[in-house]
Amino acid sequence: MRKKIVAGNWKMNKNYAEASVLMFQLLEYKKNNPTNCEIFIAPPSIYLTTAKEIFADKEIGIYAQDMSEYPSGAYTGELSVEMYQSIEIDGSIIAHSERRLYHGETDSHANRKVKALLDAGLTPIYCNGETLEQRKNGQHFEVIKNQTQVALFTLSADEIKKVVIAYEPVWAIGTGETATPEQAQEIHAYIRSLIAEKYGKEVADEISILYGGSVKPDNAKEIFSKPDVDGGLIGGAALKLEDFSKIIEAFNP
Ligand code: PEP
Repeated sequence: MRKKIVAGNWKMNKNYAEASVLMFQLLEYKKNNPTNCEIFIAPPSIYLTTAKEIFADKEIGIYAQDMSEYPSGAYTGELSVEMYQSIEIDGSIIAHSERRLYHGETDSHANRKVKALLDAGLTPIYCNGETLEQRKNGQHFEVIKNQTQVALFTLSADEIKKVVIAYEPVWAIGTGETATPEQAQEIHAYIRSLIAEKYGKEVADEISILYGGSVKPDNAKEIFSKPDVDGGLIGGAALKLEDFSKIIEAFNP
């Protein structure tokens, strides 16, 4: 059975004190509330070691928001897979649309980063999704196919099984505009069919595909109820325990 996951991408938010408070709130919440999904957070990298200390018993998964494709060297400002491995975090988000938009990240970069993480035994959360213009032009299937193939299809079946995919239509990120549950299901099923075509149904059925884009407490349950939606990558609503916990509870019966 593939994993159900609610992952919080904190982006570039919160100072140290604020980040610590939210981590302790999450710890308390996790201890007192049985959940029907795994919980991940991706705080700013500067707080990853704090997160490791606070969640010392691995109550929740700790992820970075990006990673260098290079193993080490003269890449000022970058962080390597070995650094992440050495502080024992679980993995990293890769190719978030904001990395694509502001840092020119492509699926070829994503492919190398995903492979580096897998080689190190860490989990990539690989993001893809179409822009508003691409959707309006009816290109969304083509865009998703291309992104998925370039970023992931050099992996072996055993490797791709370990990747978490996040479908995040760019037009729905941070805009308050959400894909309808049917739109999310349509693309999730499509991504799974692409993987099934290349690697077989059994492999495709093992991969968790998360939806991201303005998921909120009031729409999470309906989106997560779709058969190919295995959870969410949450931005804005991950910054307050009150909202994030309600999204986690969308998996409760
Ligand atoms: C995200 O950044 O991955 C995201 C989905 O953001 P938001 O939930 O704020 O739309």
